[in-house]
Amino acid sequence: MSKKKKKLKLRVDRVMIAAVVVLALLFGIYKSVSYVGGKILSFLNSTPHSVVEAKTEKKYRATVVLDPGHGGLDVGANSGKLYEKNISLTTVKAIGEALEKENIKPVYTRTTDEALHEDKTTDLNMRAQMSLDHSATYFVSIHVNDFDKSNDVTGFEVYTKDKESETLANTISQQIEKLNYSQNRGLQDGSSLVVLKNNTVPSVLVELGYINGPDYKYLNDEAKLQQIGEAISKGIIELIK
Ligand SMILES: [Zn+2]
Repeated sequence: MSKKKKKLKLRVDRVMIAAVVVLALLFGIYKSVSYVGGKILSFLNSTPHSVVEAKTEKKYRATVVLDPGHGGLDVGANSGKLYEKNISLTTVKAIGEALEKENIKPVYTRTTDEALHEDKTTDLNMRAQMSLDHSATYFVSIHVNDFDKSNDVTGFEVYTKDKESETLANTISQQIEKLNYSQNRGLQDGSSLVVLKNNTVPSVLVELGYINGPDYKYLNDEAKLQQIGEAISKGIIELIK
């Protein structure tokens, strides 16, 4: 190699080294910028994310399964256009809202005008199963009665299946009684009712009144159903406190 060529080679080497150093520096700067940028971004993102998490992780004191009887094609008892399936849903939503305020989680067997299954027994079993699925403390089913032989029968009834359920039935019926809308027909044996019988927790079924008699007046009144729902929730809360 000639001296000239050597010099040229040396210069090329220097340029190469300088280029590598510059590239390395640029790469280093790029890396640090993206690292810091990433940190800032993840910090910004983490703020709203943890707020959402805190909301979903709300600690409830207990869970109660609320079951509005019937739904869909199964309208239940009716008087004209007043259907049991709608009365039960309105009341259950009022119970649930009142429970939520007391930090008790309501789990609804249905929230829309739909049955859980077209087969009645399967439908009732699916409702009962929800107590186990949600590790519930209580199960409360809401219904409305009718009596085709007379239009004079009035009053609400609470069905129970065992001693533990009776305690709940008592606190609930005492609270409904306070409203003075109708007479208390007392606790009834509900041990053969599928939603109670196949339930794993203390369970009651409330018949709010007789749709064809004088009870029609409050059963057809949404504000009254709201109050009945709140009364039932008080009976539940009393035992959870
Ligand atoms: Zn019913």
